[in-house]
Amino acid sequence: MAGKDYYDTLGVTRDSSKEEIRKAYKKLAKKYHPDLNKDDSSAEKKFKEINEAAAILSDDTKRQQFDQYGSESFKQGGRSSANYSNFDFSSFGGNFDDIFDHLGDIFGGSFGGRSSQKRSQRRGHDLQAEIEITLDEVAKGTKKVLQIRKNEKCSDCEGKGGTGLESCSNCHGSGSIRDARRTPFGIFQTTSPCRTCAGSGEVIRNVCGGCKGNGMVKSEKKLEVDIPEGIENGSRLRLSDEGEAGYRGGPSGDLYVIVHVKPHEIFERHDEDIYLEVPISIVEASLGDKIEVPTLDGKASLKIPAGTQSETIFKMKGKGLPYLHSYGEGDQLVKVIVQTPEKLSKKQKKLVEELGKELGDKVEPSKSFFKKFF
Ligand SMILES: [Zn+2]
Ligand SMILES: [Zn+2]
Repeated sequence: MAGKDYYDTLGVTRDSSKEEIRKAYKKLAKKYHPDLNKDDSSAEKKFKEINEAAAILSDDTKRQQFDQYGSESFKQGGRSSANYSNFDFSSFGGNFDDIFDHLGDIFGGSFGGRSSQKRSQRRGHDLQAEIEITLDEVAKGTKKVLQIRKNEKCSDCEGKGGTGLESCSNCHGSGSIRDARRTPFGIFQTTSPCRTCAGSGEVIRNVCGGCKGNGMVKSEKKLEVDIPEGIENGSRLRLSDEGEAGYRGGPSGDLYVIVHVKPHEIFERHDEDIYLEVPISIVEASLGDKIEVPTLDGKASLKIPAGTQSETIFKMKGKGLPYLHSYGEGDQLVKVIVQTPEKLSKKQKKLVEELGKELGDKVEPSKSFFKKFF
């Protein structure tokens, strides 16, 4: 077959079901989404290919066409096959879970049910909230309760705004009013939204008392937000349909939750790795020791080998944060800082001096270092 193999692109077979194709697409789209692969230009290309393949294979007719004639058959219509970013994913069955907003463009929440939307309806506004979590919560994932004041669907009229929807007599159902004005330059015609029906072309005969006809009432809502482990500072989670209710029963907006991660007192985050500085004594560094260090999972022991230099970094495997998009964990990196004693008693001073004599040159590394050159 000439051209591309869309099945190959999605890693599925010719007899894969729609559901299997959808799953394969979702997985790949997450992996190659340009927002998640900012430094990788090949990811964007791959992402486009995945979208193109999904657009064809999710559509029964197109899939059949592809099976018979191959990908070349789609170019004859003169339509570019590259841009499928807006194709209708509802053909996949629509309702995806709350996934990261990175995917918002392609899985956009507003496509569902648009065709059945009445003219007087409007989609509700999106809302935004912020949540602060600790690094410990990042490590294990957490749930947070948000209290949000927003417009919710009026329960008296189920969001319809009342009963008896009829065509607006003022604008004859067009939603706009034309106005012709005679001026020295000729007749100017302007069009403005009809005030009687707010541009919708429809009016409600029996307006609902609970919401005064707009189908929404202000209320306070408690929402539990699931925050996945390994989440990055500044991430934006999308909770579909948790924004404001739509006007007169229109679809709800989405709620975006921005997650801030509080800086930790001692740990520093480097992607999935945790970085920590730990002081050790000159004795521990010289003779070696087993020390206890804090981790996100409680205390753990770390072996310091004899003769450890200051600022050596030890890796504690798997003690970092879980990866957000795959299995496994990062590491904890421990930088040991050898502390030189600041105040010595007479006896201690004597002992160090003795040690110095015993070590000879070794006590002054600069001497042995420069010996190589001079
Ligand atoms: Zn009107
Ligand atoms: Zn109402």
